[in-house]
Amino acid sequence: MTLSTKLYDEAVGLFPGGVNSPVRAWRNVGGTPLFLVRGRGATVTDADGKTYCDLIGSWGAAIAGHAHPRVVQAVQQAAAAGLGFGAPTTGEIELGRAIREAMPAIERLRMVTSGTEAVMSAVRVARAFTKRPTILKFAGCYHGHSDGMLVRAGSGPMTFALPDSAGVPESVTMHTVVADYNAADQVRAYVAAKASELAAVIVEPVAANMGVVPPQPGFLMALREATRACGALLIFDEVITGFRLGRGGAQGRFAIEPDLTCLGKIIGGGLPVGAFGGRADVMEQLAPVGPVYQAGTLAGNPVTMAAGRATLALLDAAAYAHLETLGARMAAGLETILARHRVAGCVQRVGSMLTLFLGIERAATLTDVERLDRAWFRAFFFGMLERGFYLPPSPFEAMFLSLAHGEEHVDEFLSAAEDVLRRTPHGAGG
Ligand SMILES: *Cc1c(COP(=O)(O)O)cnc(C)c1O
Repeated sequence: MTLSTKLYDEAVGLFPGGVNSPVRAWRNVGGTPLFLVRGRGATVTDADGKTYCDLIGSWGAAIAGHAHPRVVQAVQQAAAAGLGFGAPTTGEIELGRAIREAMPAIERLRMVTSGTEAVMSAVRVARAFTKRPTILKFAGCYHGHSDGMLVRAGSGPMTFALPDSAGVPESVTMHTVVADYNAADQVRAYVAAKASELAAVIVEPVAANMGVVPPQPGFLMALREATRACGALLIFDEVITGFRLGRGGAQGRFAIEPDLTCLGKIIGGGLPVGAFGGRADVMEQLAPVGPVYQAGTLAGNPVTMAAGRATLALLDAAAYAHLETLGARMAAGLETILARHRVAGCVQRVGSMLTLFLGIERAATLTDVERLDRAWFRAFFFGMLERGFYLPPSPFEAMFLSLAHGEEHVDEFLSAAEDVLRRTPHGAGG
């Protein structure tokens, strides 16, 4: 019995499922999760002393690699000056300024403590500003776990969405409608019929919570045009893509200006964080200026601000060039392996985040993604784990590269992946 297994047994008596966030429980692959005790650069070490090359990277937040010395130093200095006051601090201005410089569409912003909160608050502001109730989201896009966002309604045409979770009344989700990702025609049809009810369209500009699904050419622009034409707001949920796909996030990469942007993950440098911002006239709906209430005891926490600021300071053009090179090398390597061993699958990548989908040839929507071969992924996951690679424990997630990864990590990853896929070319019972 490993130490991780023992710890898990104890955790199960403390936390539902032994975890404080569901995907950590490895339900999608079976088995019990590793307990991690240390991370450094591109690697993490578990309770049993085994070290792995980490492709989760705190779900994208750890873009600098684990325990980057500059980030750690910034955190130590900030902590020594006081862990938080519930009063304005200069760190908020420094991080806020860095974000606004990178994303000019963010004229005003507010710091919060999670991505969930950022989205929940952005939605509230959008409804107040437009005085309309409905939010349109896309199947397979994750926007945190606030009640109104916990719907996906499978795929298919516009219907009032049913809750994905128990405990969410239909009277809440009746104000959420769901369209297929990449289906601009569905959005246009909705707007043509119900524009006067639509407060906002919210989208992951590159979907990364159903595996990586890039927007097809014209999709994001169609959302921009459809919302602008009917007086609804466009919200980009860049909690993952912000500062991941370049300093300007997806909005910079695709040159589209949303009305509101949600951020999280990277901007906290590994500490709990969220932020939302956008047009000044929309954001000034917020208290204490406007009528929309929103608050946070620990929002703008000085230690978090320092970690975020130190992380953003590392993300220059050379950093993004490195991430792009690594991502391209990994995707090309995987594609070669798929072809060489006649493995049915595809690699979808944008920048330094990518997903290997086994059993499908491409994925543009959640319906496509759901056809992937789960049993095969399970075999791949455990094969890679055995060879020292710590992958997201679900086929519906992205792998994330960091500044601490180098070509050597990618090449080792590729030879391990080839070895695993060669042995299980058609899945392990799926
Ligand atoms: C992670 C994530 C969230 C939720 O952020 P939390 O900090 O986990 O609440 C929201 N939207 C997207 C796109 C995310 O990836």
